[in-house]
Amino acid sequence: MIMSARIYFDNSATTPLDPQVRQAMSPFLDAVYGNPSSMHREGLEARQAVEYARSQVAALLGANGDEIIFTASGTEASNLALWGTVQAQLGCHVITTTIEHPAVLQTCRALASAGIEVTRLPVGGDGIVDPAALAVALRPTTRLVSVMAANNVVGTLQPIAELALITRNHGAVFHCDAVQAVGKIPLDMGRLPVDLLSLSAHKFHGPKGVGALYIRKGVRLSPLIHGGGQEKGLRSATENVAGIVGLGAAAAIAANGMSAETARLVCLRDRLLDRLLQRIPQAYLIGHRYRRLPGHLCLGIDGREGETIKLLMALDDAGIAVSTGSACSASHGGEPSYILSAMGYDPLRARGSLRITLGRFNTEKEVDHFIDVIAAQIN
Ligand code: PLP
Repeated sequence: MIMSARIYFDNSATTPLDPQVRQAMSPFLDAVYGNPSSMHREGLEARQAVEYARSQVAALLGANGDEIIFTASGTEASNLALWGTVQAQLGCHVITTTIEHPAVLQTCRALASAGIEVTRLPVGGDGIVDPAALAVALRPTTRLVSVMAANNVVGTLQPIAELALITRNHGAVFHCDAVQAVGKIPLDMGRLPVDLLSLSAHKFHGPKGVGALYIRKGVRLSPLIHGGGQEKGLRSATENVAGIVGLGAAAAIAANGMSAETARLVCLRDRLLDRLLQRIPQAYLIGHRYRRLPGHLCLGIDGREGETIKLLMALDDAGIAVSTGSACSASHGGEPSYILSAMGYDPLRARGSLRITLGRFNTEKEVDHFIDVIAAQIN
């Protein structure tokens, strides 16, 4: 079968905008242009839209609207969480992991340069942090623990509830970079003892350039961006009204359809994995078999790890977009993935992973076509 349209299997890098999100945003790129801080009707209309979006994001997280601060990205939300908590207090201790996204990892490096002590917890071969290791790493001076909900490269889910509870019992603040998880798996702030949580609209069919930080009531943060005092003084700047409306709409769509969509994606993902392992016996799964994001697969092909970029390009020529490692580290070219290295993979294997990530608009027909194309390339 020849397919003319391209197949997009790189939904962890970014997702296509949902047409319903585009529709919700459209008036705010056009007729409704007021500044939410203005007191006239144009301003009030924009303010209402921002507050409605805030309630939609809060509903997705089981949070209150006043616990949501809009930012320009997931990266900015995590920077605000980390710097805002620590406030560059010398003598303070922060714990994170070896497999965080650069949004947290590089921020921790910057904290370390400012004199903050940072501990990076190791992970097992499946990419999971052992809660016992966190308990051992905590110190009287530990002020903050930051662990991601789902890894962007391998898709593994962390035991966030356990890690956050250990942190809370210690009296420290728990931040979760949930950029890959929000909108894909249930995250209920009423049940999870998480204090701060970062998210980004473009990872769940919303627009790029807008994110949010959940801040549990009572948790105190200092701002990174100073100015007109928008977002309760925590993120000054005129709000990106259309983007925020898009984030709200994306959150509402994700909340409404999550259980059905999760089941559909798990089915598609497992079909892809099972058939691929049958057709390509040299293929192996990277990361935990079950504790992983619904649409996420990370694979290696034994003996062919050095040819991954060639394979990616051949798939691209055949109309299929996948990625190696993470798009966010594309500039690092052929270096081994620090995430796979932390999981114990040797440099060759750590360089040669293929990431296949499915999303809302992918179909079974696309999965089957992909298997035919990749099997023809490998065998
Ligand atoms: N955190 C994780 C786990 C990610 O996967 C990404 C993007 O890939 C980010 C943070 C950065 O999000 P943004 O692109 O909104 O800055």
